[in-house]
Amino acid sequence: MDKSKRKAIIAGNWKMNKTPAEAKELLTAITPLVKDADCEVIACVPFVDLQTALEVAEGTNIKIGAENCHWEESGAFTGEISAKMLTSMGVEYVVLGHSERRQYFGETDETVNKRTKAALAAGLKPIVCVGELLWERECDITEEVIARQIKLDLFDVSKEDVKKTVIAYEPVWAIGTGKTATADQAEEVCAFIRATIAKLYDQKTADAVTIQYGGSMNDANADELLSKTNVDGGLIGGASLVAEKFAAIVKAASK
Ligand code: PEP
Repeated sequence: MDKSKRKAIIAGNWKMNKTPAEAKELLTAITPLVKDADCEVIACVPFVDLQTALEVAEGTNIKIGAENCHWEESGAFTGEISAKMLTSMGVEYVVLGHSERRQYFGETDETVNKRTKAALAAGLKPIVCVGELLWERECDITEEVIARQIKLDLFDVSKEDVKKTVIAYEPVWAIGTGKTATADQAEEVCAFIRATIAKLYDQKTADAVTIQYGGSMNDANADELLSKTNVDGGLIGGASLVAEKFAAIVKAASK
């Protein structure tokens, strides 16, 4: 399928950064820089920043996402936020299964799958993160790891729903390390993810899914990464906290 028919998405993942006042300042700086973007632009922000971010983004082309959600609608889950709570505010996207959640907070493919289904059921579009560890790449099992994550994370997700799901390929060794996968490495795994989705669903469905690359993407390397056939966008950590750098990546995706 012609790549230009897929939705290109550049999403910032702010992680645990920015107070509401700082969020307002950053989004206000980003807004004019990305107003002519020819791709979808998303800011995924900490829960406490959502209300401010939604207010600042209202009437602009920036969509707002959260960084996680729970699989239950409500109940005794202290510290958690449900998908319905997010949609009720006007949040459209949610990052799920980020490697930092897998690494530091015991997130598993089973819980990523539950969160993904809950997000979709509530009308949120999930950005599901997958990626191999460095030693898994060194042991030459990247494809096994990725196939397993895709199969488990998307278990029982319908064909219609998978088209609303964004997959972010984020090699764990490239996140926040300054080490970027080469454009060929990113393309190889993003193509493999699409082939895996085609096997699970069908080619037409796989061709419709937006697959991002994430891992130290910045204003200097975005052009090359985003030029690849199966790299439809980026999930951006560090560089999304600097308005000019984030805007430069959006510009690269708009070409
Ligand atoms: C991320 O947080 O998803 C990410 C890719 O971070 P960074 O761009 O900082 O590597």
